[in-house]
Amino acid sequence: MRALPVVSLLSAAVLVGGVSLSAAQQGNTAKPRPEDTEVWEPVPPVVTPGENGAAPSDAIVLFDGRSLDAWVNSRDKTPAGWTVADGVLTVNKPVGNIETTRTFRNYQLHLEWRIPTAITGEGQARGNSGVFLASTGEGDAGYEVQVLDSYNNKTYVNGQAGSVYKQHIPLANPTRKPGEWQTYDIVWNAPVWNADGSLKTPAYVTVMHNGVLVQNHVELKGETVYIGQPNYDRRYDRAPIKLQSHGDPSPAISFRNIWVRELP
Ligand code: MG
Repeated sequence: MRALPVVSLLSAAVLVGGVSLSAAQQGNTAKPRPEDTEVWEPVPPVVTPGENGAAPSDAIVLFDGRSLDAWVNSRDKTPAGWTVADGVLTVNKPVGNIETTRTFRNYQLHLEWRIPTAITGEGQARGNSGVFLASTGEGDAGYEVQVLDSYNNKTYVNGQAGSVYKQHIPLANPTRKPGEWQTYDIVWNAPVWNADGSLKTPAYVTVMHNGVLVQNHVELKGETVYIGQPNYDRRYDRAPIKLQSHGDPSPAISFRNIWVRELP
């Protein structure tokens, strides 16, 4: 058989392509419109934002500079017993950890902390405190975002300020000098449990330190522990937020402007 000229083959291909395309177009009843992908409900609730880090209108204020009523002593649930003066909350080390009276699951948390100018010590023994994201009772169980003077203070990097203690190194070190206020903005997604008590979804946390992203939706391997491997032993449905009174001998640190927004 005599081969078709190349030009004829090309023409046939174009023709077939043209017919096929035309059929596809005929099966398409409507041309996509911008409004096909517009969603109008549910309408997000209106929230009035706070000025300069102040609580937005829908936040639960945990410390407003005056009252410690939202907190209790973690050990025995008596009044918190840390020092409130001049709008500032200061750790009272002999009293121990304090925790919120309310419990939370998933939330956005804002708090501010300050290392005193008279800070002493080094490594983990220099302004150590911490934010336990879901924890109750005496001791340091729970999920700790470290608070520490990490301004020119060398320590293990998964234990410096902004770390998820011994699990996640912060992405940067934006720590301010002792005496200056620093902010944490934290988004906490609590672990989810199956009915049989097994872990369905691990916990995730995002942390901004002084407006700088230091933890980007990191997955927790379990509760943060000082010695040994992390674990998911405790099955909290909801839990308090706890602040750490660390046993190191350096001068106590302070907190202010603490608020939380519960998330769906
Ligand atoms: Mg700590």
